Formats: sequence, C-alpha cells, structure tokens
Amino acid sequence: MTCNPTSINSTGFVSLVGAGPGDPDLLTVKALRLIQKADVVVYDRLVSEEIMALVNPAAQRIYVGKRLNHHCVPQDQINQVLIDQAKQNKHVVRLKGGDPFIFGRGGEELEKLADEQIPFEVVPGITAASGCTAYAGIPLTHRDHAQSVHFITGHLKKEGMDIDWASLAKGNTTLVFYMGLKESANIQHKLTEAGLSEHTSIAIIERGTTAQQRVLTGQLSDLSNIAEQAISPSLIVVGSVTSLHSQLNWFNR
Ligand code: SAH
Repeated sequence: MTCNPTSINSTGFVSLVGAGPGDPDLLTVKALRLIQKADVVVYDRLVSEEIMALVNPAAQRIYVGKRLNHHCVPQDQINQVLIDQAKQNKHVVRLKGGDPFIFGRGGEELEKLADEQIPFEVVPGITAASGCTAYAGIPLTHRDHAQSVHFITGHLKKEGMDIDWASLAKGNTTLVFYMGLKESANIQHKLTEAGLSEHTSIAIIERGTTAQQRVLTGQLSDLSNIAEQAISPSLIVVGSVTSLHSQLNWFNR
C-alpha cells in the first residue's frame, strides 16, 4: 500500500493525557502505557519528575511550562508544537497535571487539533481536588457535612468571571479552589460577605500526593494568613469536611 504524505491519514496522533496530581502511582494504566511508547511528550510544570522518569527514554521531551523567568509559553505556541509534531507523523503525548479537562486548557488544544484534522484521544487523570483531598483524609462529600462539591478557578480576575458567591456560601457544600493562593484574601472576603460563617473550616493542601505534601488547616477567617505560608501548587478547600483531616489523615503521618 502506498501512502500519500499529504493525506490526513499520514498525520500523527495526539493523546491528551492526565498525569494525576503528582504521585506516579496515581497514573492510569492507559497513561503509563502511552508515555512508555510515545515518540514525543509535551509536558508542563505540574508533571512530576518521577512521572517524567517513566517516559520512553527514546522519546523527545518538550517542556512548555513556566520558564525560569516565570513566563508561560503562550498557548498559541503550545498548540503549534502539537500540530507541528503530529504533522511529522509522530505519536504525541500531551501530558498535563491532574485531569486535562479540569482547568487544564485541554479543550482549547483539542479544538486546534480538530481544526487541523489531526486525530486525537483523551485520557482522563485524577484531578487535584480528588487526589489531594484523598491523600489529606478529607472526603469531598460526606452525609453529615456536604451534599455537593464545587471546583472553582482562583484566577478570578484574569478570566474576568463573575462567580455566584451567594450560591457558594450556602453551606452544606465543599468548595475547592484551584490556583487560589494569590486570590485567597479575595476568596475569604467574598465568601464571608455572601454569608458563609467565618468559623467554617478550611484546609490548604500543598504539593498534594507527593512526599512533600503539607496540609494547613484553620477557619475561613484565617484563610489569607494561612495562604501566605503555602507555596504553589496548593489547593484551597473550604467546608466542614476539612475538619475530618485531623482524624482521617493517613498519608505522611
Ligand atoms: N488540570 C489540573 C489543574 C491545573 S490548574 C488538575 O486537574 O488537577 C493548577 C492548579 O491545580 C494549581 O494551582 C493547584 O491549585 C492545583 N494543583 C495541581 N496539582 C496539585 C498538587 N499536587 N497539590 C495541590 N494543588 C495542586
């Protein structure tokens, strides 16, 4: 059979893969299989070194996370890397921390691939909210504490979003803020203003699921003070489920 190099079938393939929150044992079997056979792995800052150590040694590695000057590679450039590599008929693994569809811009990247008619698949990963709370002994829901859970971006201003603080402040729910450290004072203020008790328990989980995991706990009134002691990546969890940490903490005891 001859191959027409300009046909769609001659392009490569992109696997958009979630790497989970850090602990390599939280990779899915499918994610592990794919990184072990990829031609190219395009990864960012949240993918741990232990996970990168599992990548096919012959694969090309392309880092697209924050550089030393703390500037991110622009999204357009990342999209172009994926397109260029796939068009060289390679199997590209786009490896992202957590789940690629939760605050991971995975959808945006796939839209560009779809425009270029490059075939792709999505492999979900364990998102930080799920992995980090599990390792902190904080159940996201619990019949005595929370009947729902919200995942919220802390990049409130940047993304120009209007959050419905009143609905978040109703209680009986667990709030998980991603990328919230720098916005912690605002989060504290908005939730209190919307009526959530300042005595509501909170937790900040730093570098969750890794050997360096730290869990800082307190009340909503302390949130911004506690956040000052935490470093990225950290997750802010607001809700009475966080009070269970002291009893259910099992990891890194
Ligand atoms: N797609 C990722 C989230 C990317 S946004 C996922 O599904 O998990 C990046 C934010 O995720 C960080 O600012 C932090 O709030 C959170 N995060 C990711 N990994 C984390 C970890 N190991 N510990 C604590 N927070 C983490």
